[in-house]
Amino acid sequence: MQNFNYHSHTYRCGHADLDMKDEDYIKEYIKLGIKKMAFTDHSPLILDKRPNIRMDYSEKDEYLNSITKLKQKYNNKIEIETGFEVEYLPGEEKNLLILKSETDKIILGQHFIYDDDKNLKTFRNNNFSDSELIKYAQYIDKALELGIPDIIAHPDLFLKNSKTFNQMESEISHMICKSAEKYDIPLEINLSDVFEKIFYRDGKFNDLSISEARKEINNVRYPNANFWKIASNYNVKVLYGIDAHHEGQIMLFDKLIQLSNEIIGNDTIKKLQFINEL
Ligand SMILES: [Zn+2]
Ligand SMILES: [Zn+2]
Repeated sequence: MQNFNYHSHTYRCGHADLDMKDEDYIKEYIKLGIKKMAFTDHSPLILDKRPNIRMDYSEKDEYLNSITKLKQKYNNKIEIETGFEVEYLPGEEKNLLILKSETDKIILGQHFIYDDDKNLKTFRNNNFSDSELIKYAQYIDKALELGIPDIIAHPDLFLKNSKTFNQMESEISHMICKSAEKYDIPLEINLSDVFEKIFYRDGKFNDLSISEARKEINNVRYPNANFWKIASNYNVKVLYGIDAHHEGQIMLFDKLIQLSNEIIGNDTIKKLQFINEL
């Protein structure tokens, strides 16, 4: 099993468990035998102030201080890093580079673009036109060109509402993989949808056996097997990310990986270049 995880949230984003303290996540990682983790909570952004999506700039110092304290407290048990999950937006470049300079790990979890009226358009209940999908892939490329992220989180998120995988979906997948290869930035197989669609339905945690869990596998929207098949033909590094927001989620790491691998398919998994550390 991968013994590190660089995708972990805190209560500050407003949509993770509000009663989980930062230290509670650390305890789960240690219990599981994880050797290295990074807190990568949703970063503050100047241009996105929606509630319960991300922390505010006023919370940033307290967040970083909290992690630094835990780093010291647990330094003989687990390596802890600071970080943020960020999104690229034109106009936000300077702020993102400052966040990078202040932390160990930045993951790019791009969920939106600006539409033509300069409103944020996310994949939540929204269909993207072909030109909007291209813009989405260009945002990712731009973030890499600027040297912002260390990891591209859920590169197949754009497929979450797609029932089909046709030429456009294929083209966007190629664009994202080409960018990752060009800038040598790893792609993350994100485990959050497996967790939420199988073990956390209707906001309630339910541990299931693998055979029980497997019956629900068709509800999972990503990882997307078609995307990862394309990715397996590129010279890109790959890692798993728990994207932890909830109590108990970390402890399911093994099962979440197993189910994701079954979704992606063994032939593809064998070809992907998994990394050992970063
Ligand atoms: Zn989140
Ligand atoms: Zn995340």
